[in-house]
Amino acid sequence: MGFSVSTASGIATAAKSPRGKTMLVEGKVVAAEAKRLQRKAKPATGKTATEAEKQREKDGQTAEATTAEAERPHAKAELAEDEVVAEAKRLYDKVKHLGWSMEDCFVYAPLTLEINKLKKEKDAIILAHSYQTPDIIYGIADFVGDSYGLSKQACSAKQKTIVFCGVRFMAETAKILNPEKTVLLPSTEAGCSLSESITAEDVREMREKHPHAGIVTYVNTNADVKAESDACCTSTNAMKVVEGMPQKEIIFLPDELMAKNVAKLTRKKIIGWRGRCIVHEDFDAEKIKAIRSMHPGVKILVHTECTPEVVDASDLAGGTENMISYIKSSDAKQFMLVTECGLGDRMRVEFPEKEIVGTCNLCPYMKKNNLKNILSVLKEPRKEQIVELPEEIIEKAQKALNKMFELTQK
Ligand code: SF4
Repeated sequence: MGFSVSTASGIATAAKSPRGKTMLVEGKVVAAEAKRLQRKAKPATGKTATEAEKQREKDGQTAEATTAEAERPHAKAELAEDEVVAEAKRLYDKVKHLGWSMEDCFVYAPLTLEINKLKKEKDAIILAHSYQTPDIIYGIADFVGDSYGLSKQACSAKQKTIVFCGVRFMAETAKILNPEKTVLLPSTEAGCSLSESITAEDVREMREKHPHAGIVTYVNTNADVKAESDACCTSTNAMKVVEGMPQKEIIFLPDELMAKNVAKLTRKKIIGWRGRCIVHEDFDAEKIKAIRSMHPGVKILVHTECTPEVVDASDLAGGTENMISYIKSSDAKQFMLVTECGLGDRMRVEFPEKEIVGTCNLCPYMKKNNLKNILSVLKEPRKEQIVELPEEIIEKAQKALNKMFELTQK
């Protein structure tokens, strides 16, 4: 049975079936179905409505906000009622562990359906960083991972267009590795405190000041900064890259705290910069120790963008993929993830038998992408949403990335 759903107002739209019978008045039909299904399938976590609401606020958006944000006159799609019901159930099956209700899923379902149809029509692949919201990760993403893993994924993708649901430097890396493809970034405000802490000119000055040092740049930097570097690195392979460089002196950019963490593990002289990730610099070692005493047996996994004191208080320090592998292979039941909240949500969905405890921090930049701007970028990208880089920058940045591949594949 077909009915017209305006994603402009989510499910709250009156429409007529092909036989002329009103099938949906102010969303009552679908809302009633949502309630019926919700009664049948209570959230497994047993969270209260208030807790569920807090969780969604933590995720950076509410169902109402997304629906309101999606108000655009041209966002009309012909969707069958049973398609919407099936999509809402599919979503609910994933996000119920986060306290989302079936009603929430009915609000998101028309948008995720429309995006999923459109990406096929437009020959696009959607890559989502683990810090994106659950509606993006479980609703529309083809691949989820860290920035480096996603860029590699982009290389093997057959599609002509890449929609990168992450921040700008990540979309740029995808463009550097896939210059022939169109790379789209849904939010033009998705920056990063680390990548914005340094310019290409700063790197040139550092090279002049330390002419014998090799320059290793963390991938969380803009393309022109990568282009001035000798090699790139990720949070996972930073040590391997530093050790593999021929120089005894390494300029490690731009994360001051990661540079300190690397300096503790190498004999090489590390020269740092003053960049910081606003999400990871805020964690406090004393609070982490308090979580350990409250949860005996908890495993504390820390991102290497945190302070050395926080790293010292951990069971593992690394990047997001290191943390996921650790959880996968560990017999422990409780974990604290000292990183962005999105990863904890992903782990709650993917490992429901494990418990994620403690606190996390939100990245405001990562949360700038939403279903509304993803739909819009797929329909008709604005110039500033299309990632373009000068050929010379692409070539030089590719060399720095290739150096990383060379040093880490040994
Ligand atoms: S989490 Fe930190 S490094 Fe990642 S995008 Fe946000 S500010 Fe940048």
